[in-house]
Amino acid sequence: MIGGGVIGTACAHYLEAGGYSVSLIDRGRVGGEASHGNCGVICPSHLLPLAEPGVIGQTLGSFFRRRSPFFIAPRVDFDLWRWLFRFAGNCREDQMIKTGHAALSLLQQSRRLYDELINEYGLACDWETTGTLYVCKLPQTFASFSSTVKLLQTEYGVAARSYLGENISALEPALRPGLAGAWHFPGDAHLRPDRLLQSWRDSLVERDVKILENTTLQELVFNDGRPTAARTTQGEIVADHFVFATGAFTPQLSDQLGWSPPIQPAKGYSLTMPRPKRCPNYPLNLVDSGIVATPWKSGYRLGSILEFSGYNRRIDPRRVTLLRTGANECLKEACADMIEETWVGWRSMTPNGLPCIDRCPIASNVYVAAGHNMLGMSMATGTGQMIAQMIDERVPSVDPNAYRLQF
Ligand SMILES: Cc1cc2nc3c(=O)[nH]c(=O)nc-3n(C[C@H](O)[C@H](O)[C@H](O)COP(=O)(O)OP(=O)(O)OC[C@H]3O[C@@H](n4cnc5c(N)ncnc54)[C@H](O)[C@@H]3O)c2cc1C
Repeated sequence: MIGGGVIGTACAHYLEAGGYSVSLIDRGRVGGEASHGNCGVICPSHLLPLAEPGVIGQTLGSFFRRRSPFFIAPRVDFDLWRWLFRFAGNCREDQMIKTGHAALSLLQQSRRLYDELINEYGLACDWETTGTLYVCKLPQTFASFSSTVKLLQTEYGVAARSYLGENISALEPALRPGLAGAWHFPGDAHLRPDRLLQSWRDSLVERDVKILENTTLQELVFNDGRPTAARTTQGEIVADHFVFATGAFTPQLSDQLGWSPPIQPAKGYSLTMPRPKRCPNYPLNLVDSGIVATPWKSGYRLGSILEFSGYNRRIDPRRVTLLRTGANECLKEACADMIEETWVGWRSMTPNGLPCIDRCPIASNVYVAAGHNMLGMSMATGTGQMIAQMIDERVPSVDPNAYRLQF
């Protein structure tokens, strides 16, 4: 396994469970990148891709505004412009519906597997199955989101219940009065990502998975036209199969894959803190601002922002302010007094919104599982199972065709 984010960890888990001897390497530490500071919502409700009809017109203006939660740093980057062109090509009703069905099957399988995984292995990650609450401040936001909910119900059978007026604060007292409406999706769950990764790592070590941190893959070593070892900064590792779960960094490894991944890094921000006094009971998706607030027994996090600005780790104070002000519009107490961590990390975005989970052109024993967009936590267990089933030459539980490599 190359890459110890949630996807690589899930692949290592299902391969070990299937009887394989697994080594997992990461150039940093397990769960140290995107899988660390995300919002931890496991959300089949979020099945529709970013690429939907009209999204270009609605949001492209805001993409270039520095105070917007969506931002493209203006620069000459041909890969980014090629990606945007392909993204625009996916903003069609028929494509959106098709992508939604493919995403839902992996999301639902992953949601089921999380229940099994957490019960069977006792992973300590503040797992809760309250569902999520999508909160709309403005009446026009509620009207437009209600059309989306109708589509989710009729086309995909995803259950949701609406709350209006005083029923909203009765359900979630942490919200301000006067909001236009809210929708509760009972099928969602949430967990604390850093705790999940720590606990999962410990469980893999107990089961003799070899974990090598601060170990960078340099290249695959070929013998008779087939990779037989991974050359790393800590020496060579001999293996029969190689899986790249390298998230937003996958384009940097295109020579090893024989494929140019159509993946762009999109920076997101989060603020982690102790629970505020009036902490929400539910994870909240604040639809007007795009901000997510996730409560755990052990803390609380605000996260959002989609910034296409390459791989820079700079923390822009204007984005941090956006998180606070956006949350403050709907919550009585948006933040605790003390912020424990201000974090940025990169989502790996594909033009159609689906991850690539497949064999690579370089050789039949090299696989990739990357490009999980905004849903890597939600799709991790299903992805890990699918990779293990592919390597084992079993029929995958989820139809893999939608996840074939995009060229
Ligand atoms: C603000 C924010 C909020 C989010 N909220 C949610 C949410 O609520 N729900 C949800 O489902 N998803 C969410 N996501 C998305 C989710 O975080 C990602 O999709 C997921 O973490 C991706 O996991 P990964 O394993 O593919 O990548 P990563 O976690 O980035 O792991 C890739 C790993 O590969 C390693 N690596 C790279 N190159 C090499 C190399 N050459 N050699 C060795 N190792 C290498 C890296 O060090 C890294 O650890 C959010 C993302 C952000 C930014």
